[in-house]
Amino acid sequence: MSTTIGQNSSFGQSTVLGYPRIGANRELKQAVEAYWAGRIDAAALEQTAAGLRAGVWQTLRDARLDAIPSNTFSYYDHVLDTAVAVGAIPDRFRRLGLSELDTYFAMARGVDAEPALELTKWFASNYHYLVPEIGPDTVFTANPAKALQEYAEARALGITTRPVLVGPATFLLLAKGADPFARLDDLTETYAEILGALADAGVAWVQLDEPAYVADRTPAEIDALRRTYARLGALTHRPQIFVATYFGELGDALPALLATGVEAVGLDLVAGPGNLARLAAAGPLRGTTIVAGLVDGHNVWRTDLRAAAAAGATVAGLADHVAVSTSCSLLHVPVDLAAETALDPQLAERLAFARQKVDEVVLLGRALRDGTAQLPPPLPPVPAGWRRDDVRARLSALGSNGRRRGDYAVRAVRQQERLTLPELPTTTIGSFPQTAELRAARAARRAGTLDDAGYAERMRAEVAQVIRLQEELGLDVLVHGEPERNDMVQYFGEQLDGFAATDHGWVQSYGSRCVRPPIIYGDVARPAPMTVAWATYAQSLTSKPVKGMLTGPVTILAWSFARTDQPLADTADQMALALRDECHDLEAAGIRVIQVDEPALRELLPLRTADQQGYLDWAVGAFRLATSGVADSTQIHTHLCYSEFGEVITAIDALDADVTSIEASRSKMEVLDDLAAIGYGRGVGPGVWDIHSPRVPSHDEVADAVRRAVAAVPARRLWVNPDCGLKTRGYPEVEASLRRLVAAAAEVRGH
Ligand code: GLN
Ligand code: ZN
Repeated sequence: MSTTIGQNSSFGQSTVLGYPRIGANRELKQAVEAYWAGRIDAAALEQTAAGLRAGVWQTLRDARLDAIPSNTFSYYDHVLDTAVAVGAIPDRFRRLGLSELDTYFAMARGVDAEPALELTKWFASNYHYLVPEIGPDTVFTANPAKALQEYAEARALGITTRPVLVGPATFLLLAKGADPFARLDDLTETYAEILGALADAGVAWVQLDEPAYVADRTPAEIDALRRTYARLGALTHRPQIFVATYFGELGDALPALLATGVEAVGLDLVAGPGNLARLAAAGPLRGTTIVAGLVDGHNVWRTDLRAAAAAGATVAGLADHVAVSTSCSLLHVPVDLAAETALDPQLAERLAFARQKVDEVVLLGRALRDGTAQLPPPLPPVPAGWRRDDVRARLSALGSNGRRRGDYAVRAVRQQERLTLPELPTTTIGSFPQTAELRAARAARRAGTLDDAGYAERMRAEVAQVIRLQEELGLDVLVHGEPERNDMVQYFGEQLDGFAATDHGWVQSYGSRCVRPPIIYGDVARPAPMTVAWATYAQSLTSKPVKGMLTGPVTILAWSFARTDQPLADTADQMALALRDECHDLEAAGIRVIQVDEPALRELLPLRTADQQGYLDWAVGAFRLATSGVADSTQIHTHLCYSEFGEVITAIDALDADVTSIEASRSKMEVLDDLAAIGYGRGVGPGVWDIHSPRVPSHDEVADAVRRAVAAVPARRLWVNPDCGLKTRGYPEVEASLRRLVAAAAEVRGH
């Protein structure tokens, strides 16, 4: 074993892999946004940040957590922090000549002259990280200033911490550029320098996160991991190394890592229960501490402490030393359940947010040492009212018959008879701009200064205006504009049984942006129609078809905290049944086109290929359950965005929607080739206007996009629409852009 220059200390009994950094009241969001707007200066921002960091460390210490992480704070994103720590700042940002802080924010958000780094999903979570740009000539340089600063700040409070960094292998596997992973040996030397600097400062333990190894990795990638940690482990001047993994099973990377001489390895025993068997198979663990992720960091339920303690005891039988931890960073759950005073007490007693999960970890750590006698009693049984036997009976009666529509060729004829659409019909994806007035009306209703009737009146006026505008523009299939929806998942969560909303349950999505996912706690049921009044009101104002607009079962599930006491597939089917009833009611009310959005179809896709088909089968099954109860003459649309869909293209086909609108303008219609390759033969609306930018596309740009689409798809199956909803845009650019879109469709149609 290598000598360690930092104090050679044991890991301790309990830890967490990270803690929310946004603040209990989103203080960090307010501060960084104030800084961006020029309302506060860098010193004031830094002061707020230091206060938040100190608060977290004190909270963890006061909870009697043994091993406390640091450097988990971030102004924007921890992958970006790691890029800065290894000097991987692309030249295009260095050249701007900004301060260190402003260079950082330029990479995160872009500036006029330079687009930001790409933002993408952090493994299977709803957190998004900034993708490092690494090329053959990226010069890595050690810049441990932030980690050292946080360590020193905590020391000044009398708290010894364990700095956390993204590990070198994962960092490069997440990067983009010409073969970033080829730079691993170089980058490892930079990490070696950082570890040396940490050891100089007296750091005893460092945490390097390698979650990329819970996905499929090639033998070469696994060998590179082994090489890297063997090299870092062999350093004579370094802290002890804890390699953390999370979000799944480590597989072949586990024995590789155990062979490297790192002092501790972390395993997610919640998302990766198979890690336990793998650990047992690894043979005697000479001296390695196993950090057992027993408390779910990715969901809001209380831990079954007795079951977790039993798993901990199994690990203790295999390793010399065991510590208890969260399965992943607590970044993915809200801060404190104590802030939720309006929750049903029977639900609240089953929940644990970050603060409560720390207590669970501490209790489990003690149970490992002292036995389980001190653990609190198990929870009472689930209230009977949370179970809906009527829903379960209907689902089993429907079986697989409830997932099939008639022949598409017949459907297409019936629908066209009823809709009489022109070739290349034009439409939008659903939402129109959420104006300041709409938001003010919502706030007034929350504050009680606008009553429900007044609010509804305000929304109807907005719908009427949106319909008038679309008629004036000459669109073919209209939408009501979704003014009444704050959020496409929350809106349905508020109306369905089995869902609860929180008041303060914010979770960081990216940068300063936070979301408040609803909690699905019981069987899902629909007490009353959710969208019919809006759709029929809109339809009453026009003779053109208005689309009914629903969020799909998979997307609702992906953007909520799901229950863990039944398979996700069962919860998705319950959601689908409620949506099936909604489709039925829309149809009965005279709505001829219904769009069921599934932008999150890819989000729950398992990281390991072997698990993906099983997921896609139930996800597609749920969508079909939701949409297959309508007549042949009712046209079902779906909408997909936020990711590249090549990987799941056959699943998109299997959704069996009559029309699929899909984000395509940035990728230059690539998705059309993917669809053609699998013989997709139904309607498709590739986005011809990138709505993520406020820029109004030129007539030629839109017309070119339409022509490119016509070249790839027969015109009779092609729709013309934007990439996504328009809620984040302003009216001037929406009007101008839609005018061009309609004109471009007419021009191409005329040829
Ligand atoms: N119908 C939704 C909208 O237009 C779809 C949003 C989405 O795809 N994320 O806003
Ligand atoms: Zn979209």
